[in-house]
Amino acid sequence: MTLTMTTMQSPTKSSRPVPRHELSMPIPAWMPKALLDRCGGKVHSVFRFSDAERAILRKRRSELPSVWSEKNRIVRMSSIPGPWQNIITPYLPSLMDALRFPSVEMGIVCKGPQTAITEGAINILGHSADHAPGPAMVVYADKDTAKDIMRDRIMPMFEDSKRLRRYLTGAVGDESTIRVNLRHMVIFVGWAGSVARMGSRPVRLLILDEVDKYPESRKEASPEALAEKRTITWRGRRLTLKFSTPTVETGPIWVAFTEEAHARFDWHVVCPECGVMQLMVFDNIRWPEGVRDPEVVLKDHLAYYQCAHCPAQWDDAVRDIAVRGGQWIERASGLELFTHLETHRPGKIGFHIPAWLSYFVSLSEVAHAFLRWKKSGRLKDLKDFMNQYKAEPWQEIRAERQEDGILALCDERPRGIVPGPINDVPRVAALVAGIDTQAAYFRYVIRAFGWGELEESWLVQCGTVPTFSALDELLWKVAYLDAQKNEYRVRAAVIDAMGAPGRTKQVYAWCAKRPLAMAFQGKQNQATPIAYSPLEFFPDARGSKIKIPGGVLLRRVDTTFFKSDLAEKLATAPGDPGCFWLHSNIARRRSGAEHENILLDYAREMCAEVFNPETLAWENPKQRANHFWDCEVMCLVAAWELGLRHKRPPNKEKQAAKAQSKAPAPAMPKRNLTPGERLAMRSRR
Ligand SMILES: [Zn+2]
Repeated sequence: MTLTMTTMQSPTKSSRPVPRHELSMPIPAWMPKALLDRCGGKVHSVFRFSDAERAILRKRRSELPSVWSEKNRIVRMSSIPGPWQNIITPYLPSLMDALRFPSVEMGIVCKGPQTAITEGAINILGHSADHAPGPAMVVYADKDTAKDIMRDRIMPMFEDSKRLRRYLTGAVGDESTIRVNLRHMVIFVGWAGSVARMGSRPVRLLILDEVDKYPESRKEASPEALAEKRTITWRGRRLTLKFSTPTVETGPIWVAFTEEAHARFDWHVVCPECGVMQLMVFDNIRWPEGVRDPEVVLKDHLAYYQCAHCPAQWDDAVRDIAVRGGQWIERASGLELFTHLETHRPGKIGFHIPAWLSYFVSLSEVAHAFLRWKKSGRLKDLKDFMNQYKAEPWQEIRAERQEDGILALCDERPRGIVPGPINDVPRVAALVAGIDTQAAYFRYVIRAFGWGELEESWLVQCGTVPTFSALDELLWKVAYLDAQKNEYRVRAAVIDAMGAPGRTKQVYAWCAKRPLAMAFQGKQNQATPIAYSPLEFFPDARGSKIKIPGGVLLRRVDTTFFKSDLAEKLATAPGDPGCFWLHSNIARRRSGAEHENILLDYAREMCAEVFNPETLAWENPKQRANHFWDCEVMCLVAAWELGLRHKRPPNKEKQAAKAQSKAPAPAMPKRNLTPGERLAMRSRR
């Protein structure tokens, strides 16, 4: 049997001709002869398909998202507006295409900002509307972001594309979400807080943007878990795409990337000089030796990338060429993306995109972020570098500090004994003290510091004293000895002026008469590690002005800065350079019996506070005693003020000459003014 169908354009008045189809089919020979004769042996029919029939019957050329995007996507909100160009973000086309591989049901992207993933996800949304329709849901971190992206990116994509425009019927918004009704599917655009209220409509395509920014809900499951449940009914044909700049190791994107993904891909680039494919790593981003100022590196574009296989040094333009030549390689199998997909058919695939792959991020910007942290030493800057540039999580090592780890820092010295010289070279630059003021007593730490920026230090003694006069005795009247009977005296003591109600005035009065004492006020964050406030009057609620004789210089201290420094020092292994030593924890009674020293309490208090990388602050979650921790912070402040980091050990001849001309020690020791004090004195004039 043969069947022929011809299509003709019928002449109509409308500008768009409607195709006419003609169908002819031979009549089987066993049919009645009269019928065969009447029709000339053929059945003949002319007909038209309706618009709807034609839309359904149209042969769909299946297009990959990367091909589709270049044809149909116009980008408005970008530094390079206009038609989507795969060449700008060379790592995205194959990533988008992989999401449409038959086995893949989830894509997980851990990335730096400015890597254009949000745009890539919108391409996937548009491609789905055209090629794999079904209810879609896009979730952003907050309402404003959702509304902005809806207005500036999603709607314009549909309006600007000839292909997508015909699906539009008009958008309807409601309270908990923004809903776009297309002719053949619906798109829900929501935000983390609205997911729980969005009901349980099933979705085929789910896009979760910046999941690490979703606020945590205490009452119910996380927004991403709730959203992911919606895709269950579309199993086998669903796609979830979640991506974020990472935050902490326990954050959703890092957990998904490291634990959930069945395959993890890195973008390997190709050196334009030697042609060797390689993974770009931060260590090969270089800048001229000796340049340490982040602003200079950024301003003069000093950073470059050192090829790992040849002497070529890539500037930003060469880096872009190297990235363009690259491809995705799976971490475990070493296979190229599509070879891996064909071979292993993973369901969930993960991608890692550090900032230095992006056309929008210069190598000098990356170096700048790193040097800024090196210069400031602030955890905030380290976190920024790790998350935003390396696209790696912040590691909460500090939160896991254990009492055993603190006690491992004990050396052999008995309590109260200063470490002596080794081969006649003195180890100790100065003794300092930190005093935590309580309503009825003081906690104190006396610590010996070495010379130079390593700041090796030794706990000499810590404990409790009841009164100011007991403090005087401990700090100024006692000489501390090393094993060879050399004498050491406390050179600076920092005391908390805000420790207890009613104590502030007493602390000021005490400090005013003791040149080595410094009044301290802790601030969680400020622009400089230490700010100086010269005070002339005692605080007085009734407003009467009583002069502080001689005045007091109050030190307002950024405790986040010094606590983070202290945490880093505590993480140094025993015996490593810059170690933070404790004295021995074994004490001997007169009877000769051994007993444990005070250090168990000390260790417990040193572990009370943990760093919260979200608030970027040190917190005391269980409200445990932390007096010795505060004392040690104040010891660091005292060492900072004495500038011990910048001091070198004295050489022997100078020391001998000094010993010969030694004058008797004054009753109340004096010290030179610190730079901060000098500045404050000047500003008072
Ligand atoms: Zn090379």
